[in-house]
Amino acid sequence: MLDTTIAGSLPKPCWLAEPEKLWAPWRLEGADLAQGKRDAALVWIKEQEDAGIDIVTEGEQFRDHFVHGFLAHVDGIDWQKKTKMGIRDNRYVVDVPTVTGPLSRKRPVHAEEARFARAHTRRGLKFTLPGPMTICDTIADAHYGRRADMAMAFAELLNAEARELEAEGVDLIQFDEPAFNVFMDDVKAWGIAALHKAIEGLECQTAVHICYGYGIQANLDWKESLGSEWRQYEEIFPALNESRIGQVSLECANSKVPLSLIGLLSKKTVMVGAIDVATEAVESPEQVAATIRAAMDFVDAARISPCTNCGMAPLPRDVAAGKLRALGAGAGLVRKELAGE
Ligand code: ZN
Repeated sequence: MLDTTIAGSLPKPCWLAEPEKLWAPWRLEGADLAQGKRDAALVWIKEQEDAGIDIVTEGEQFRDHFVHGFLAHVDGIDWQKKTKMGIRDNRYVVDVPTVTGPLSRKRPVHAEEARFARAHTRRGLKFTLPGPMTICDTIADAHYGRRADMAMAFAELLNAEARELEAEGVDLIQFDEPAFNVFMDDVKAWGIAALHKAIEGLECQTAVHICYGYGIQANLDWKESLGSEWRQYEEIFPALNESRIGQVSLECANSKVPLSLIGLLSKKTVMVGAIDVATEAVESPEQVAATIRAAMDFVDAARISPCTNCGMAPLPRDVAAGKLRALGAGAGLVRKELAGE
């Protein structure tokens, strides 16, 4: 009951990459880098276990970007051919690589990392992958012609990857789809179909993490423009509720998302974000417990998985560790109440 987990990412230790910076370059090379990533993953697995987190991740210590880490191993992409693209509906304009031919995976991308993590924890193990729609919003298309077709091609590669992760003993595979609350019509038209392709044949648990992003400036500005209540989820939750994805995330800590929208997810496990990743202030266990209790007005505790609002990669390491402990302790408080202790 109230199995705790995190959205996925955790900060890199300072000896591995520059702290408090998204997508910071590695500070090690070659075999030292490979060893450093494993060591960092071990640190975070232990920190999560000690904090009482039930479903742990490797903290995304092996990758520098949640989309490009996967794309680096895909053929059909021309990394030299940069196309200027306004991503997330023009929230940021960046030069992105271009798909110029049929997509195929050169080799398994994360299987070795999953095997390593599995060998070092008996807790539930979650692994995160970028969702097909979000990948398509991070790369230009000069081959498929329709975004939906390119998404299906990526979904096939993700499905092969996900099957391998499951075979390595991963218990829960989560697809990160921050694009889902930007292109709401596309979610219904082909976004969920692409996710279904990505989870085809899996027997492990599955999840989709949708969110309003890290606490970086472009996101803060965008959030300012969304008004006093964020109701984007209202458009897509009914379709997600009918989907075959097992779990759906929702920010509940210091967010403007009305908690009543949880009521639209009556068939799902809800990852209740009880940790605000946009502030360095560490929540108290009581604050976390209060957020979980507020969600329980709309969903039974049996279908709640207390979680972070989003990844914690940009936070200082001690802050992230403190937030892990608050999450574990806060869920513990509510569990005790439910047990009538
Ligand atoms: Zn997120």
